[in-house]
Order: sequence, then C-alpha cells, then structure tokens
Amino acid sequence: MSKVQCPICSAAMAGSWQEYPDYPFCSARCRKIDLGRWLKQEYRVPAPAPPDDRSTPGEGEAN
Ligand SMILES: [Zn+2]
Repeated sequence: MSKVQCPICSAAMAGSWQEYPDYPFCSARCRKIDLGRWLKQEYRVPAPAPPDDRSTPGEGEAN
C-alpha cells in the first residue's frame, strides 16, 4: 500500500485514490490552487517551451 499525499497541501489522503474525485488532489480547492499555478506559469512564459525531458520544475512533486 502506498500512501498518497496531496501535492498542494501535503494532506495525507487515506484510503484509495478512487475515493478522491479530485485526485491527485485532496479536494477541489487544492485542484484550483494547482490550476492557478499553471495559469500563472503560462502567463509568465507565453512562448512555447522547447522540448525538455525534465518535468515541471519547483513545487516538489511527491511521487
Ligand atoms: Zn490538498
């Protein structure tokens, strides 16, 4: 069994991920926060990013 944490608020998500309609976020609120971050990033970098193997920098994604 692997424990899952919300990448936004780091809340422990008990049970299975199927119980979370907003997976991988613990709630719709956290999903909105993540979406806001995305939009900010796109706003900052309007030009298409060059191909890059690395995943999104920062924000420490928990696997
Ligand atoms: Zn959360």
